[in-house]
Amino acid sequence: PLVLGIETSCDETGIGIVRGHTLLANTIASSMDEHARYGGVVPEVASRAHLEAMTPTVEAALAEAGLKFSDIDAVAVTAGPGLAGALLVGVAAAKSYALGLGVPLYGVNHLAAHVAVDQLEHGPLPKPCIAMLVSGGHSSLLLVPDVAEDVISLGSTVDDAAGEAFDKVARVLGLPFPGGPHIDRAARDGARAAIAFPRGKIDDGTLDFSFSGLKTAVARWVEAREASGESIHVPDVAASFQEAVVDVLTRKALQACRKYDVHDLLIGGGVAANSRLRALAQERCDAAGVRLRVPRPGLCTDNGAMVAALGSDLVAAGVTPSTLEIPADSSLPVTTVHV
Ligand code: ATP
Ligand code: MG
Ligand code: FE
Repeated sequence: PLVLGIETSCDETGIGIVRGHTLLANTIASSMDEHARYGGVVPEVASRAHLEAMTPTVEAALAEAGLKFSDIDAVAVTAGPGLAGALLVGVAAAKSYALGLGVPLYGVNHLAAHVAVDQLEHGPLPKPCIAMLVSGGHSSLLLVPDVAEDVISLGSTVDDAAGEAFDKVARVLGLPFPGGPHIDRAARDGARAAIAFPRGKIDDGTLDFSFSGLKTAVARWVEAREASGESIHVPDVAASFQEAVVDVLTRKALQACRKYDVHDLLIGGGVAANSRLRALAQERCDAAGVRLRVPRPGLCTDNGAMVAALGSDLVAAGVTPSTLEIPADSSLPVTTVHV
């Protein structure tokens, strides 16, 4: 079956079309340029942009795949978590398409979709696998017996998400929003061991994360240098900060694999696009005999293909479709894969 996926949880209007795990189209309109000058996503601006972008982005996806509306067999949409007003636009559009086309509707979890998307590139997920979800709003370790049915939370951040830490540290360093890709780039010219930043909760025996102490430590370090008139070598700060984040992430991910005796690790979400995280995770997985799967960077950040991929799994699993009454749920828990 051919599944149309609609993603509007944040600033990206993402439309994906898949058949099984074959990606046929993935079109995106982003309102990030409108948010960048505010240093964060402005919810009302995002909602309006989704409304304007929806029809052209769906049409572009159909054109890219060489398909007509009547070819679509099911519609999947991000039902949460995310910005309430932004989610609402996608959910309303998905209901209209499903009703108008007479096809089933599947409301899916954005976070589970960040995990499911890897199948478009690397095939079916091993059952079970450990998934580390690291994005702008979330940082979690998950045990995934079956991404269509059963996702178990093993631990998550007690304060900031990993992506949020990247964005906040970037601001301290005078880099544009969103900061993750800028820190990644700056860090390539820096020394990872230049500054010893703290690694929160590193060996505390839990599978939880904490990044707010690290963020504060970087801000204090920069303030102290500025106060004493010393110059700051941005690449060194970026590389040392980034190393502290990816050191903790990869250690905890492998601790989860060991604890649950699982030999397949998947990393998803926007921060999974980070080049140093990908490299260190590969190194440590090789040493531990764990197989690593990370989607290509363009599938790590928000997109419609991930929603279509999870929708396709739900269709294949014979899950009962959603009703046309489903709400958008801004705080949908990661364990609720579909609504
Ligand atoms: P969530 O998925 O939790 O709802 P979101 O959808 O806003 O949040 P994503 O689009 O999945 O988040 O990820 C965006 C985050 O990823 C931002 O914080 C951004 O800085 C970060 N990010 C993107 N590319 C990189 C990179 N190369 N290195 C580090 N962080 C990155
Ligand atoms: Mg985004
Ligand atoms: Fe996301």
